[in-house]
Amino acid sequence: MRDGFFREIEYLRLSITERCNFFCRYCRTRDVCACDTDAGELTKQDVFRIISAFKKLGIKKLRLTGGEPFLRNDVFDIIDFAYDLGIQNINVTTNGFLHDDCIQRIIESRLSGVNISLDTLDRQKYRELTGVDGLDVVVNAIQTLSRVKRVKLNAVLLKTVNFDEVEDLILFAKSNNVVVRFIELMPIGVANRIFEKEFVSTHDVLKKFKDFQRIDDREKSVAKYYYIKDFDSVVGFINAISDHFCSRCNKVRVSSKGILYNCLFDEDGLDLKEHLSSEDVLAERIKQFVMKKKFTRSATTNAMMFKIGG
Ligand code: SAM
Ligand code: SF4
Repeated sequence: MRDGFFREIEYLRLSITERCNFFCRYCRTRDVCACDTDAGELTKQDVFRIISAFKKLGIKKLRLTGGEPFLRNDVFDIIDFAYDLGIQNINVTTNGFLHDDCIQRIIESRLSGVNISLDTLDRQKYRELTGVDGLDVVVNAIQTLSRVKRVKLNAVLLKTVNFDEVEDLILFAKSNNVVVRFIELMPIGVANRIFEKEFVSTHDVLKKFKDFQRIDDREKSVAKYYYIKDFDSVVGFINAISDHFCSRCNKVRVSSKGILYNCLFDEDGLDLKEHLSSEDVLAERIKQFVMKKKFTRSATTNAMMFKIGG
C-alpha cells in the first residue's frame, strides 16, 4: 500500500493495550492513568481482523507495543495468528519486567525480535524513573532472551538521568551481545512537561566519542547506526527530533482501542472499530485513510505515548 507521497507503507505498529505496570516519567505518570482497565481494548478477534486487513494491504512487518504488551494474556495467540497469516517479521517492544514463564514463552514463540527499554543501570534511578524497583528483573530478561532472540535495547536520553550513563549502557549492551539505541525524548503527552529540562540530542552523545563512523542502513530502520571505535561497538541513534525521518516513513499505527493513526504526532485518526464487520470494507477504509498521511509530522502532540503505542 502506498500513501499520497508514494511512500510504501509496509510496517504496522499495533498497540494491544494501554495498560502498563510502569509509570515512566516521560510516558505515563500516575495522574494521567487513573483508570487502568481493559475497557475499550480491541478484542482478540478484532485484532485478528485488523491484522488480516493490513496483511492484504501488503504489510510485511508488525510490531506489538502498548502500554505493556505482555500484560495481555492473548499476546502469544496474536503472534501465532500473524505468523500463520504470513507475516514473518514480528517484533515486540516491552519494558522487560517479565517473569520466567513469560520469558520461556517468548523464547518458544515465533517473534523475530524483542526491543527492551532500559534507560538506566542504576537501581535507584530506575525506580524513580519507572515507579518500579524492577532493574534486576529486566536485566535478567535481557540476559536470558539475548541468548536466543534478537534483542535490542531502547534508552530514552534524559539529561539529568542518563546522559552520564551512555558509556555504561554501551558496555552493558556489548557484554550481552545486543545493540543499544539511544532515543531522543519526544514532546508527546506528559513528556511535554519535562522536555525542555531533559532533552538531549543524539548529536550531543556522539560528541562524547573520539572515533566513530556511520554504518549504512542495515534494515529500513529509523535508527542510524554508528560503529563507535572507542568501544568497538555498534550503537543506534533515533533522532526523531533533531533530524526527523518523515520522508522515508513506512509505517502506520493502530491504538489498542482501534484508532488508526498515520503518524505518532497525529491527534486525528480513523476508528477501525466502525468498519470491522467486513474485512474488504475495512481494508478499503484503511487504504483511503493512509492516502491522507502527511508528508511531515507536527511539532508536538498532547496524545499520550502509552495510548497511541510508542
Ligand atoms: N511498555 C513498552 C516499553 O516501555 O518498551 C512498550 C511501549 S513504550 C510507549 C515504547 C517505547 O516508547 C519505549 O522504548 C519508551 O521508552 C518509548 N517512549 C515513551 N515515551 C517516549 C517519549 N516521550 N519520547 C521518546 N520515547 C518514548
Ligand atoms: Fe509503560 Fe512503556 Fe510507557 Fe514506561 S514507556 S510507562 S513501560 S508504556
